Amino acid sequence: MNIILIGAQGSGKGTQAQRLAASLGIRHVASGDLFRKAIDEGTELGQKAKTYIDQGKLVPDNLTVSMVLGRISEPDCASGVLLDGFPRTIVQAQALDEGLGRAGQRIDCVLYLEVPRNVLLKRLSGRYICKANQHVYNINTRPPKVPGICDLDGSELYQRSDDRGEAVQKRLDIFFNETVHLFDYYANQGKLAAVNGNQGIEEVAGSLLKAINDCREDV
Ligand code: AMP
Repeated sequence: MNIILIGAQGSGKGTQAQRLAASLGIRHVASGDLFRKAIDEGTELGQKAKTYIDQGKLVPDNLTVSMVLGRISEPDCASGVLLDGFPRTIVQAQALDEGLGRAGQRIDCVLYLEVPRNVLLKRLSGRYICKANQHVYNINTRPPKVPGICDLDGSELYQRSDDRGEAVQKRLDIFFNETVHLFDYYANQGKLAAVNGNQGIEEVAGSLLKAINDCREDV
């Protein structure tokens, strides 16, 4: 089963994606994580992507599409993927449909995690992430037990450069102005389901699983 999880930065998408993928037994593929890994490893792709990411801009479609399609064609993705952060544009969505189609696969379900903009801004300004595994904390609402240290793996917590200052506003503008076009694209395919992301973590997880089951019944 191939699922797309759409949500603005700070919507809880990363946390929910990790849980969902584990409970469905499919691979969690996050385009932002793939870019950050490429940057850490100092690859050519990482160097190109960094300029855009640091400014809160989208990385060009050609770089993004080839990176993600390459990743999902690897053997560990054969039983299904949960895509997080990709696609973000119509060009990417079309390229994804074509790429999956060539492999005899398709997207089964597209979930939109809906959270109001004022809630997103508050969450993002307090967000810290662990260096080792990208576990997410919030100094206001979900602090670690020891300040600055991940509860789960003991690694250092950091605030992403694009979670600070103007880059936050720019990323939310991009989401609300541009990424929303994807809703029409997937609604026309009859695959879109909206889920209320402004609830507790457990409630959101339950709502997402319910939406996936509804979507399975429709197939
Ligand atoms: P994320 O972790 O999903 O917030 O992604 C971090 C940054 O990586 C974004 O602000 C973009 O600069 C870049 N990025 C991630 N996914 C995409 C995508 N599908 N298309 C273009 N840029 C992306």
